[in-house]
Amino acid sequence: MSLIVQKFGGSSVANAERVMNVARIVTDTYKKGNSVVVVVSAQGDTTDDLIEKANEINPNASKREKDMLLAAGEQISISLLAMAIEKLGYPVVSLLGWQAGFQTSSAYTSARIKRVNTDRIMKELDKKNIVVVAGFQGINRYNDVTTLGRGGSDTSAVAIAAATNADLCQIYTDVEGVYTADPRKVKNARKLDIISYDEMLELATLGAQVLNNRSVEMAKKYNIELEVLSSMTNAPGTIVKEAVKMEKMLVSGVAKDTNVARISVIGVPDVPGLAFKLFSKLASKKINVDIILQSIGRDGTKDILFTVAKENGKEAVKLMEDFIDVVGGKEVNISENVAKISIVGAGMESHSGVATKMFEALYDAQINIQMISTSEIKISVLIDAYDADNAVSAIHSKFFDEN
Ligand code: ASP
Ligand code: MG
Repeated sequence: MSLIVQKFGGSSVANAERVMNVARIVTDTYKKGNSVVVVVSAQGDTTDDLIEKANEINPNASKREKDMLLAAGEQISISLLAMAIEKLGYPVVSLLGWQAGFQTSSAYTSARIKRVNTDRIMKELDKKNIVVVAGFQGINRYNDVTTLGRGGSDTSAVAIAAATNADLCQIYTDVEGVYTADPRKVKNARKLDIISYDEMLELATLGAQVLNNRSVEMAKKYNIELEVLSSMTNAPGTIVKEAVKMEKMLVSGVAKDTNVARISVIGVPDVPGLAFKLFSKLASKKINVDIILQSIGRDGTKDILFTVAKENGKEAVKLMEDFIDVVGGKEVNISENVAKISIVGAGMESHSGVATKMFEALYDAQINIQMISTSEIKISVLIDAYDADNAVSAIHSKFFDEN
């Protein structure tokens, strides 16, 4: 007998029929003699709809009240799923985050899980109940309801798996697993049987949108093996686990990120300490910088270019304008018509020629590269947003169709 945690995303419980479908998956697992803890998200677009409702009344509502509202979405799904499981004739209990022992930091709307006190969950499992837990929520030290940030139910599921020492954590979603590229855009994209935590983390940050980043970080930290699979089909999914146990893929995926703005700071003095001072300005406002490019100094000046998330673009420009007013410089420009295309693969570390192959694919497609950055398991290029989908297809077929 095993302890299995199963998480179902919003689309998997979007309507009555799908809730019944989830109830069947859960009870099939239970029938085989397993203990089952189920974590669910709010139905379909419920969370977005609740945010809209709040904005109609008060766009500046306090974060505490926002959390009070948003947590309601998951309360609806746990009760409906429990009713569906009752209907199939199985013992079940639904629990809100606080009832399931989720203690969090006090940062409303982006709380961190501090600890999961599993007493209640364990007691219910001992009574042979299927336990249905509301994802995305907990309680802070003021006994107030908190939420974990958008997409937080994945993290709730992994946290329960870690705290209860579960044998398996299955993340059910509306795609069959993790793909080598977005299957809706790239026709030969294929499902990966297995991927490492580090590769998954890169792909999650790059917008692969199958698993929430924090959930993967937590799974890595506690060594929880995850299986990402579809609640709509019976196909086997993708296993996410530690790389040492698997054959490292040269390239496991190609991802596109269009949430990028490129900032150019032109004609600043070519003197020691300039980069330090420039990036300190951004760091002091907690603006994350991604790709960085500095030109060679000429006539005592140089240019520094970097990328930030689009929502930080305006603030970064303002900071840089103030900066060149003080240190000197010609101008600051921003371009939002850019996209970052990345290839990720744990096997890159030990193979040369991966970057060349990526650049050749872009050359063949006549796509110009503006910036490049590399890490042990990732190569990213910044290109014109207009070319983004073409670039992904060209790079994907270079790595996946030619062998
Ligand atoms: N319902 C929440 C959201 O939409 C949490 C989740 O789906 O994981 O962000
Ligand atoms: Mg959701």
